[in-house]
Amino acid sequence: MRNKDYEEYASKKYDELIESQEAFNSKFKLESYSNWFYDQESELLRVYNDDDDEIFFKYIPIGTYSLKSNTWLWSWENEHSIEKNKLKTLVVKQLGEKRDYEKLTKGLIDCDREECWDFVAISKSMINAIGVYCTNSKDLLTYKLLTKVFTDKDSSLIRMMKQKTVDCGNHGFRRPAFVCKHLNHKEKLGFEEAFDTHKGMDLDDEDSFAAWCDECEQVRLETDGWNEESEKFADIKLVCEECYFELKEFNKK
Ligand SMILES: [Zn+2]
Ligand SMILES: [Zn+2]
Repeated sequence: MRNKDYEEYASKKYDELIESQEAFNSKFKLESYSNWFYDQESELLRVYNDDDDEIFFKYIPIGTYSLKSNTWLWSWENEHSIEKNKLKTLVVKQLGEKRDYEKLTKGLIDCDREECWDFVAISKSMINAIGVYCTNSKDLLTYKLLTKVFTDKDSSLIRMMKQKTVDCGNHGFRRPAFVCKHLNHKEKLGFEEAFDTHKGMDLDDEDSFAAWCDECEQVRLETDGWNEESEKFADIKLVCEECYFELKEFNKK
């Protein structure tokens, strides 16, 4: 069922967005940056060039559009969106409830791609933001409100973000971590670490999380440390930080 009232409202907000976004784009020259990266934990978006010319923005995730299923998913409904500030988008849902706008209250909506900008525009009119940004990876478009420029380039948040280079396929981009081939989630095998760790800790660029099982530790001690033989036995593999701490939780004795 068409909702004329909603359509008028959305189209007005869309026009407002186009205008403000033009000013935003010309101020930050966003199209001159060829790369982007975003980090759900710190809620930071980095746009950058190969020469490391870069800008960081704080963002709020609004929603995603699947080019496969042609559906919009609001971030408050999306379990893969771990950003805490996504709850700010609930004001949009509340407006939808008040005015009976189904597209703002249903988590998953069949629609065409153009309509995403209406959802973004409505969100921007209700949540304080300086601009919007859309990233795409494979079949998924991700829409964000940018709330401010993040200028503290020496902060550990930025260092941590730049260390996130591993995509295990389950956790998004995370910092690399290394574990022996034996560690799993079926059998408690012990968890020996290169150094004491906790999740989210600050790491120097030359340090990485590394852990191995009790049996590997025994071989390592018997063969006087890490060498060809003990390394062959451990057959260390690359995982992500999140996988690492899941393994630690399960395997530590
Ligand atoms: Zn092992
Ligand atoms: Zn992982």
